[in-house]
Amino acid sequence: MMNPTPGDRLSAYSANGAHGSVLVINSGSSSVKYQLVNPIGGEAIASGLVERIGEGEGIVTHKFAGNTTTARPVVPDHGAALREVLGMFQTQGPDLEQSNIVAVGHRVVQGGSYFSGPVLIDDDVLGKIRDLIPLAPLHNPGHVAGIEVGRALLPDVPHVAIFDTAFFQTLPEAAYTYALNAEVAREHGVRRYGFHGTSHQYVAGKVSRVLGRRLEDLNQIILHLGNGASASAVRGGKAIETSMGMTPLEGLVMGTRTGDIDPAVVFHLHRNAGMSIDEIDDLLNKKSGLKGLSGENDFRALHELIEQGDEGAKLALDVYIHRLKKYIGAYHAILGRVDVITFTAGVGENDDIVRALTAAGLESLGIAVDPVRNEGRVKEPRIISPDWTSTLVMVVPTNEELAIARQCIALVDEDPAEV
Ligand code: ADP
Repeated sequence: MMNPTPGDRLSAYSANGAHGSVLVINSGSSSVKYQLVNPIGGEAIASGLVERIGEGEGIVTHKFAGNTTTARPVVPDHGAALREVLGMFQTQGPDLEQSNIVAVGHRVVQGGSYFSGPVLIDDDVLGKIRDLIPLAPLHNPGHVAGIEVGRALLPDVPHVAIFDTAFFQTLPEAAYTYALNAEVAREHGVRRYGFHGTSHQYVAGKVSRVLGRRLEDLNQIILHLGNGASASAVRGGKAIETSMGMTPLEGLVMGTRTGDIDPAVVFHLHRNAGMSIDEIDDLLNKKSGLKGLSGENDFRALHELIEQGDEGAKLALDVYIHRLKKYIGAYHAILGRVDVITFTAGVGENDDIVRALTAAGLESLGIAVDPVRNEGRVKEPRIISPDWTSTLVMVVPTNEELAIARQCIALVDEDPAEV
């Protein structure tokens, strides 16, 4: 018998009458995003955000049944943040006890080489996520705090960790190894891990279902273009290359990150501009990319500046598109044949100018975008290439929360007695 897919497990799950929801928690360094998801229908039952944790007055925004509630309590730490979240469910709904939460899914950015899929969180798993803090100092501390408090506040449901890096654990050694001194690399965990994996995996699967073609038969390039941005090459459903590296800083030009840069720039700025390592870290991660080149990291604002004749904004767009084309060319060479290129995330789904410029001039690779099919924002999966191309170009909206919720169900439902 073939192994059941997550989809099979889902239908079995709903046929059992055991409908339930998954609380998805994404704890950042100073924020917690959450969503209560119906993993079968796919809709967000409720969602919200706690911002400015540890900064005096915090901001809590909760959305349920068409209403948005905002509060400004003092939120000193992640414990207080999650208590605010549970408080919002209590006062604004929906009642969590009635919602039959069957799992809490925690998004974790860095899973290192330990995790190649979702795992039930126990003390050992939490310890490993803590051990990985040196590799993800901006992200993993918030995750650890969110998981500790989440398990304490909701002790009766399984907590699952979903790693941004897991999908990229299939990268071949040649793709994940940096040509750095092997001993140093091994000792300090220096290698390509890749990030945004949940989104790349979800989109790769969705492309196959939408086209009605077997995932195993497809060679795909996926461009996840949000505020953070990454590209991946996926052969037969398995990732074989990706643009983010040991951290999310490498690769494409992003909202505020440089993406690829000569590492010697760091030495130069340290030695000659007198900048500390922390200042350079902040410069490369938060003050560069589109924002560093133009003052704006949002494409809507960037296009407005370009229309007003702003040269910095025009250059920012040119650098962004140039980098994207380089990655498409490189991944073409690595895949050999590309069946589908897919745009996703905030920029990929909404910005038809970026999509058109990225494909422009790639006709000799069999890649083009049809101006009419490409027009406007895309809310449902759509093919945007003309009929003659050898490579399909698509836009497929991503949904990381739903992907996390479904992975949680696929894991916890293997033993229905546990649910
Ligand atoms: P992240 O999850 O990385 O914060 P998103 O995937 O939500 O980011 O993408 C956010 C980005 O999407 C914004 O910074 C903006 O550049 C872009 N974006 C959102 N809406 C539009 C739009 N209507 N037109 C062009 N770009 C948009």
